[in-house]
Amino acid sequence: MLTDKPIYLDYAATTPLDPQVLEAMLPYLTHEFGNAASRNHPYGWAAEKALDIAREQVASYIGASPQEIIWTSGGTEANNLALKGIAEIWQDKGNHIITQATEHRSVLDTCKALERKGFKVTYLRVDPQGWVDPEQVRQALTPKTILISVMLANNEIGTMQPIADIGSIAKARGVFFHVDACWGVNYVPFNVQEMGIDLASFTAHKLYGPKGIGALYVRSRSPRVRLAPQMHGGGHERGMRHGTVNVPGVVGMGKAFEIAARVKGEEVARLWKLDRKLIDGITKSLDLVHLNGHPQRRVPGTVNIRFRYVEGESFLMSCRDLAIASGAACTSATLEPSHVLRAVGQATGDDALAHTSIRFTLGRWTTEEDVDRAIELTVTAVRRLRALSPLYERAIGSADPQRGK
Ligand SMILES: *Cc1c(COP(=O)(O)O)cnc(C)c1O
Repeated sequence: MLTDKPIYLDYAATTPLDPQVLEAMLPYLTHEFGNAASRNHPYGWAAEKALDIAREQVASYIGASPQEIIWTSGGTEANNLALKGIAEIWQDKGNHIITQATEHRSVLDTCKALERKGFKVTYLRVDPQGWVDPEQVRQALTPKTILISVMLANNEIGTMQPIADIGSIAKARGVFFHVDACWGVNYVPFNVQEMGIDLASFTAHKLYGPKGIGALYVRSRSPRVRLAPQMHGGGHERGMRHGTVNVPGVVGMGKAFEIAARVKGEEVARLWKLDRKLIDGITKSLDLVHLNGHPQRRVPGTVNIRFRYVEGESFLMSCRDLAIASGAACTSATLEPSHVLRAVGQATGDDALAHTSIRFTLGRWTTEEDVDRAIELTVTAVRRLRALSPLYERAIGSADPQRGK
């Protein structure tokens, strides 16, 4: 990494490309340029073969069969295709969808669009740890429910949702279950059979693959899930997603999953260590700090911390040697406070939470030295900002009688 650039601790925004992934992609950006839909010559055959291998790599990672993998342009498109595709085909059966407050924007905004078309959506609230109780899901079901959509792990606070429990509720009621698995799927257990999942979204650029490529898992047996394509065209991807497939992207995504399967155990152990170190380093040196999200049911390396009496945007400005995210502008191009932290803030009765929280996300190339430096820079910046805060002075003054007035 270049030393004049800040330390990259924003893996949830996007991950760097693994060099092995780049190497696997290169032939398909150069001499293997064929269109996988060309059936009449070896250029097309080579491309199609590459797609088959990648389908196998992604499918075997999630316990699916290769033909159940539909390539998309990323997680956003996979989520749109799952929700709109199911809603459109099954609207005669019912018009009710269940989701929850901390889903990614591409799920929530798609639900909003479906509401404008007459669908009813229940947005379940989360508890103070950002967690959804499966019992809430059960109680929200109506005879009109056609789909439940709940994410695997939250990309801002790392909380993992009880996917297998929700999956068995969905199965028992014959309701389709979609999981946005874009974040954390390479770090936590995930299996579409064991978890009762009918549809699942993935994106390569959150697990060391390239941007602009993703996949939707669509169950083909018990039950066979049908969905309406959202683009029309040449009949690619079993008619569910038309358009020439991005072959180098798919090859990269397949390779990224193949690597993930191979390094998972070791990588997860290493990330938990760094995660613990970062949290301990910060919480032991500063008062009035708190880990957002669930203390145990979380993805390693997604560390979101609430610093009372520190404004997130000021923190980012005084901490330019760290590439991190604040709760104010995490995932969107707007300056809206994060809807995830607002949902958690609502559950905890803490209005300022979104404005005083910082997200650090660690990954494959984060070192112990990076974490040490992050702790040092964070502690210094927080102390400096708090020294300027009369509110903090007052809070400390009343909490600590030794300090006097
Ligand atoms: C990044 C992300 C997405 C969107 O994926 P893109 O490929 O960037 O469109 C969706 N859901 C979650 C949980 C994500 O982290």
